[in-house]
Amino acid sequence: MILPPLTLGMLGGGQLGRFFVAAAHEMGYPVWILDPDPNSPAGLIADRHLVAAYDDYAALDELAQSCAAISTEFENVPAGTLDYLDKFTAVRPSAKAVSVCQNRIAEKNFLRENDLPHADFAAVHCEQDLREGSTGLFPGILKVARFGYDGKGQAVVAGSDEALAAFQHFKGETCVLEEKLMLDAELSVVLARDEGGRIASFPTVENSHRKGILDVSLVPARTSDALRRRAADLAGKIAERLGYIGTLAVEFFVVGGELVINEMAPRPHNSGHYTLDGCISSQFEQQVRALCGLPLGDARAHSAAAMVNLLGDLWYESAPAGSRYREPDWSKLFAFPGLKLHLYGKHHARPGRKMGHFTVLDTDPDRAREKAMAARAAIGISDVP
Ligand code: ADP
Ligand code: MG
Repeated sequence: MILPPLTLGMLGGGQLGRFFVAAAHEMGYPVWILDPDPNSPAGLIADRHLVAAYDDYAALDELAQSCAAISTEFENVPAGTLDYLDKFTAVRPSAKAVSVCQNRIAEKNFLRENDLPHADFAAVHCEQDLREGSTGLFPGILKVARFGYDGKGQAVVAGSDEALAAFQHFKGETCVLEEKLMLDAELSVVLARDEGGRIASFPTVENSHRKGILDVSLVPARTSDALRRRAADLAGKIAERLGYIGTLAVEFFVVGGELVINEMAPRPHNSGHYTLDGCISSQFEQQVRALCGLPLGDARAHSAAAMVNLLGDLWYESAPAGSRYREPDWSKLFAFPGLKLHLYGKHHARPGRKMGHFTVLDTDPDRAREKAMAARAAIGISDVP
């Protein structure tokens, strides 16, 4: 076991890294962050921030020498970086598990090979692949295989002409084309798996998106018990097959009452932010525990919860003369006694950028949702999609 006051390392300095630092600090561990952005939210509160690229080997050496164990909050860290660090110190999750989750083709092949339910797809390396491999996949969604997030690098395509145009728009980057499904709902499961293979799943979450970005998460998901359990079972199976150690998130579609696996994230997840306030252990505490070889914490929820994302759009007040940049009036949110506000300390708000979130706790998800919607209206988020 890696115990305090040994130092932990984190690749990536976004809000997920920042919550990891906070959890580790509470538990007595100093944390070093590696992130090229000098203003990264986690770097600002870390014990040391190495401002360097993910393939800067001098910085990686320094990190490996100082940290008893290293994890990642950013799935696009080069697998070579994780492999290199692994020679000197404990790295969890493994480079292999991260590399499956960071490439949509590897991810979909993994699901197919393991007989796990997924949308029909074809890998698209060139225009020829689109002409030959796209039969039966329209209407479809063309997604770049790497570096897509929050709906970026995706295009809904009605047929092969549109798919070709989208592929050219993505500059011929490797893509997957998948069938566009009719979604009844979207769910996610965040779990932690330790080195002994024990799994602790957080309650299944119901998610709604706006413009491809997570908007609201509700817990417990308003589906049957059986479907919630089945989602947790499938997520557990994925973690096992990946030999995963750490916090893992799995996104699901519900289609005709059945689950389809959308994608995995080898890290804590936005839809698991409710665990900070609504569960006995948070997804970040579990990440620390799994990384350090500690027994996993209790993942039970003590409340129902509704989580609302706060995007940079909120900083722009629309006025007849154009939009004005100003700080939102946070007193409007602090007025709600059961509401927990989390701001990530990002220096500049851009539309679509995740700046913070809040969680409302209650005894049932509908009541939590109602209050969260009232709070959302109070801070000025309109309900028009
Ligand atoms: P990201 O990495 O941006 O989260 P996703 O693949 O999860 O990418 O897609 C973002 C959102 O787009 C999903 O949450 C879902 O709402 C919608 N979406 C993605 N794939 C499909 C699909 N095959 N059919 C229907 N909707 C989809
Ligand atoms: Mg997604």
